Amino acid sequence: MKRRRTISSQLTIWYSSVLFVSLILFGVTMWFTLDHTLVAGRTRTLERRADRLGDLLRSTESEPDVARANKFLAFADATGGGLIQILHEDGTLARPSPSAAESFPWPRLETPQGDRLQEITFSDLPYLVLTRSSPGIIVRMAAPLEGNRTILRAFSQGLTWTIPALLLVSALGGYILSRRALKPVDQITAAARSITVSNLAERLPVPQTADELQRLSEMHNAMLARLETAVNELKRFTSDASHELRSPLSFIRTVAEVAARNPKPDPASRRAFEEIIEECGKAGRLLEDMLTLARADAGSAQFAFEPVDLTQLVSAVCDKARVVAAARDHTLTFSSHSARPATVWADYASIRRLIWILLDNAIKYTPSPGIIQVSVNAKDEGVLITVEDTGIGVSSSDLPHIFGRFYRADPSRSNVEGAGLGLSIAKWIADAHHAQVQVETKEKVGSAFQISFPFMAVGLITAV
Ligand code: ADP
Repeated sequence: MKRRRTISSQLTIWYSSVLFVSLILFGVTMWFTLDHTLVAGRTRTLERRADRLGDLLRSTESEPDVARANKFLAFADATGGGLIQILHEDGTLARPSPSAAESFPWPRLETPQGDRLQEITFSDLPYLVLTRSSPGIIVRMAAPLEGNRTILRAFSQGLTWTIPALLLVSALGGYILSRRALKPVDQITAAARSITVSNLAERLPVPQTADELQRLSEMHNAMLARLETAVNELKRFTSDASHELRSPLSFIRTVAEVAARNPKPDPASRRAFEEIIEECGKAGRLLEDMLTLARADAGSAQFAFEPVDLTQLVSAVCDKARVVAAARDHTLTFSSHSARPATVWADYASIRRLIWILLDNAIKYTPSPGIIQVSVNAKDEGVLITVEDTGIGVSSSDLPHIFGRFYRADPSRSNVEGAGLGLSIAKWIADAHHAQVQVETKEKVGSAFQISFPFMAVGLITAV
C-alpha cells in the first residue's frame, strides 16, 4: 500500500522546494549583476586612465620626443602595469612601449573611431582591453580581470554553502513548527483509533485553540454521543428480545414434545413435530448466545472465580465431546504434559463453555473421519490449552474475522449448524481471564486453537 505522507512533511517539502528555487534564482541573478558591476568598474578605470593619458599627450606636445617618451613610459609603469600602447592609425608604434606591452597578445586592430572593449586570455588569465581611436592616434591599454574572477568565485562558493545551510535550517524549523501546530491532530487520531464499540463512552480530546481543530473534535464528540445512545438502545433491544423470546420458544418446544409423544401419530405429523423440536433447540442455543453477549456488553455478566484445575476440566469436557466426535467417526485424544499443577484462577462454567466451543467447532469443521487432539501443558508462565484438528482450516482472508459476531467463514458452510457467535463468546471469556487466543490454520489441512492462561494474582482477575 502506498504510504501517505504527513501534512507536516508535505508542507516542509513544498516550502523547501519554493525556497530552493528562489535561492537559486537569487544566486544566479546576483552572480550576473556582480559580474556586470565588476566589469563596468574595470571599464571605467580603463576609460579614466585613457583620459589621463590623452591629457598627458596633449600637455607634452611642445616638448622634445625623448622627454615625451620618458613621461609616457613613467605614466605606463605607474598606472597599468605597463600594458599600454600608442599607435599610428596604420598600427605601427607611435611611442616605444613598456616591455610588458611588447609581449602582450593585443587583439587585431580594426578601429572605427571611439572606444572598443574586448576580453582576451593571456597565460590563462583574463584581461579587458580598451582600444580608443581618435584622428591620427590610437591608444590601447589592458587591465587584468583576475580580481573580478576571484570575487565571483568567492561569491559562488559562499552560495554553495549558504543555500544548503539555509534550506536545512528552514526545512527543520518548518517541520518542527508544523508538527507542533498539528500535534493535536495526532492526539485526536490516536484517541479516535482507540474508540471501539466497547468503549463508546470515551471522548476525543478537545484542543482549546478556537479553530477548525477544536470544532472538528467537538463535532466528533457530539457524533460519538449520538452513536453511543444508538448502540446502547440496540444492545438493550437485543438483550430484551432474547430474554422475551425464551419463554414462547420453550413453550412451543414443550407443546411439540407433548404432541410428538402421541401414541398414535401419523408419520408426517411426527416428523413435523420432531423438526419443530430440533429448530427450537437451535433457536434456543442462539438466544442463549445472544443473551450471553448482551450481558457481556452491558458488563452485567457474573464470574465466580476460584482455583480451577484445567487438566481435570479439559479432560472432563473431552469425555463428553468424545461421544459427539465418535458419532462422526472422529478420533478425539486428550493428553497432558504438565510438569506442575495446571491450576489457574478462573470461572469453571465459563472455561468449560470456552473449551466446548473449540471442541464443537473442531468436530463440526472436520470431515469424517478426522483426528482431534487436545492437550494441556502447564509451564512456568501459565497453562497452554491446544485444540488441534485435521479439518477444513480457515483461509487467510477469513482468519482476521472469525472472532467477530455472526461471522461464518464461507456461505457454503451454511449446511453446518451455527450462527457465528461461538468464537466471539470464546474470545470474551478468554479476555475476562486475561488469556491469549492464537490460531494456526491451513486450508484443507487443519487448525490449531491455542489458549494460554497466565498464572495470576487473584486481585488482577476482573470481568471485562
Ligand atoms: P459457528 O457457529 O459458525 O461455528 P464460530 O464463531 O464458532 O461460529 O466460528 C466462526 C467461523 O470460524 C466458523 O463459521 C468457521 O467458518 C470458522 N471456524 C471456527 N472454528 C474452526 C475450525 N476448527 N476449523 C475451521 N473453521 C473454523
